[in-house]
Amino acid sequence: MNLVQRSHKIRLKPTKAQEIQLSKTAGTARYAYNWGIDACERSYRAGDKHPSGYDLRKQWVSNHPEWADEVAASCVYSSFLHVDAAYKRFFRERKGHPHFHKKGVHDSFNVAGDKGKVVGKRVRIPGVGYVKMTEELRFENAKINSYSISRRADQWFVSIQCVVEDTRIETPEVVGVDVGCKNWAVTSDGAVLKAPEKLAKLRKRLQRQQRSLSKKRKGSNNRSKAKLKVAKTYLRIDNIKKDALHKFTTTVTKSHGTVVVEDLDVRGMRERGVKSVRKGVQNSDISELLRQLEYKAIRLVKVDRYFPSSKTCSNCGNVKKDLTLSDRTYHCDSCHTTIDRDLNAAKNILAEGLRKLNITVGHTGSVCGCTC
Ligand SMILES: [Zn+2]
Repeated sequence: MNLVQRSHKIRLKPTKAQEIQLSKTAGTARYAYNWGIDACERSYRAGDKHPSGYDLRKQWVSNHPEWADEVAASCVYSSFLHVDAAYKRFFRERKGHPHFHKKGVHDSFNVAGDKGKVVGKRVRIPGVGYVKMTEELRFENAKINSYSISRRADQWFVSIQCVVEDTRIETPEVVGVDVGCKNWAVTSDGAVLKAPEKLAKLRKRLQRQQRSLSKKRKGSNNRSKAKLKVAKTYLRIDNIKKDALHKFTTTVTKSHGTVVVEDLDVRGMRERGVKSVRKGVQNSDISELLRQLEYKAIRLVKVDRYFPSSKTCSNCGNVKKDLTLSDRTYHCDSCHTTIDRDLNAAKNILAEGLRKLNITVGHTGSVCGCTC
């Protein structure tokens, strides 16, 4: 039996009292984190070995402020593991000196798997009680490793990390996926993921709200209201994006055992690309799409990013030198094939992936779905 790690993030529907308790717990976890950083900094400056997560926890148990007892201690302990991890990373990589966590930024805390419980559409959080969830945990018979509870805008979420049995079935079908900016993705069998229409409207709204926020006086009540509005719109945009990506990647990976993509330098595109590419990368969230394909596909094949997937004719292999970004249709001068630009690229990516996999095109039979 093959086991895989999965997580499911679900919105919570806490009561008013639970919401207060969630805030309190996140606040205490943040306090404990900063308390741990402070302790480590002192030993760092003194030239001592930094205390481990376990040491910190022991010190905290005998030295914590009284008010910290208003929340469950088990929700606070993971803060020390985070401090420990932050210092270990810092010493290993010699960069990213750990710093204090600010109030109101990424409010969150973690609960170990054995300290919480999921019953139907409710999750038990220590010190908070059973909190309603908007949906049930997606996985059956899952072994839950941990819960992380966080706030975004004015909403609370639980992300449940679990280990589940891998039920994916190895299928011989291979598909190429061209990831892009105009169409978010196109597969070699013609499936297209377009940007959801709602997004353009929400982005306009976001711009308006950001302009309004920038005019508000610092520290004023109106400013915090405007800030919340911006955060809410960001959250909606993120949800719509993620939802569309999940639907697409699930469909693609369910019907194809192997997925071929270009090994894109997403960071480079975001930082050094021309403006239209930069914006497209940001808007479509290419890295999230690739991340989802990576964990959902049984096998993900990456082909060289410098391979001319757009400029090559998927029918005859002729390479066109003068193709520009604005040419949405590929017309081959050699065999006179006319094909959608992204579909052409996806077919080339598939062929390159198959070459890498040492499968001949004739072998699978279903490689070329078009009439050419
Ligand atoms: Zn051609």
